[in-house]
Amino acid sequence: MVDLKGQYEGIKNQVNTSILKVLESSAFINGPEVHEFQKELEQYLGVKHVIPCANGTDALQICMMGLGLQPGDEVITADFTFAATVEVIALLGLTPVLVDVEPDTFNIDVSAIEKAITPKTKAIVPVHLFGQCADMDGIMALAEAHDLYVIEDNAQAIGAIHTFKEGRKQKSGAIGHVASTSFFPSKNLGCYGDGGAIFTNDDELAHTIRGIVNHGMYRRYHHDVVGVNSRLDSLQATVLRAKLPKLDEYNSRRREAAKKYNTAFSGQPHLVTPKTVNGCEGICDTCDCHVFHQYTLRILNGKRDSLVQHLQENSVPCGVYYPIPLHKQKAYADSRYDEADFSVTNQLVNEVISLPMHTELDDEQIRFISKLVIDHINK
Ligand SMILES: *Cc1c(COP(=O)(O)O)cnc(C)c1O
Repeated sequence: MVDLKGQYEGIKNQVNTSILKVLESSAFINGPEVHEFQKELEQYLGVKHVIPCANGTDALQICMMGLGLQPGDEVITADFTFAATVEVIALLGLTPVLVDVEPDTFNIDVSAIEKAITPKTKAIVPVHLFGQCADMDGIMALAEAHDLYVIEDNAQAIGAIHTFKEGRKQKSGAIGHVASTSFFPSKNLGCYGDGGAIFTNDDELAHTIRGIVNHGMYRRYHHDVVGVNSRLDSLQATVLRAKLPKLDEYNSRRREAAKKYNTAFSGQPHLVTPKTVNGCEGICDTCDCHVFHQYTLRILNGKRDSLVQHLQENSVPCGVYYPIPLHKQKAYADSRYDEADFSVTNQLVNEVISLPMHTELDDEQIRFISKLVIDHINK
């Protein structure tokens, strides 16, 4: 699905040299590399505060702790996402409220959010799924009208740009009150282990969160709040510093690959290619409207599962993200849910397939993969 080795070859000298420098310095935790990376990422995103942490799941949890959400508070998020999003809500004793997504973008449906708001609702967690921002115009307007926090789960969309209806552009993760991201190796900006970060423009919240990630300490050995231990280490930070200047180029290579897939699949009646909305028609050359963390097709004629098998038999990796709606997972099922409210997610889990998508895909690979798909579903 990803070619981390190929990508490493392109930055090998720089990464090797800077890793050796960290080893020589022995500043493994809270070293200068972490601080420099934090500053560079703040600049890249156009956000006031980046707080690095251990992984994207921690980042989400810490966002909710920082906002002071309390047991019983309801947090609305998408039914169609990676489990981490709902897991941390439940872990904190908050009440997850799962809602349906849109069929064309796979992102949370704003009208479903609106329907789910109650007097107990405190926050909305839009997930910018597969590399494209959720409808942040609609979500920010709802949040304002109902006095709710917006926590962006930006694990899949770092570098993506949201174009607001009035034309203003903002990077994903710099739009809501606070955002989380993951630097898991296969993410668009990945390190060589685990890593994550929290972003916010709110000075006070940033201060609170800096203490939370460090055992609730604001002064050495004074623990004012219950915190966690969640750190990005210097070795990961130095890898991320090598990759950050290349992120836009990496994302545009993904977009190029997506365009080629789209061309190969155009006119095919039994599949739907991913739709790019967000101010742009189609996939544009200049704007990071979609950073294609995944390239995800919908297979409409019931052949999704056999296609997965066919690709595997031909040594082409593929993935089904996600095969089970969260509201049907044992851990998150809730008698208050009504199946009729999840018609899109219930359908998508049977239709979606994600094809190989990374920075090193070449034309021949794309031709080979798309031919396998087309031949199989038309057979
Ligand atoms: C990867 C991912 C996470 C979790 O990140 P980790 O670093 O693996 O903890 C959270 N949300 C989404 C949508 C993700 O894709």
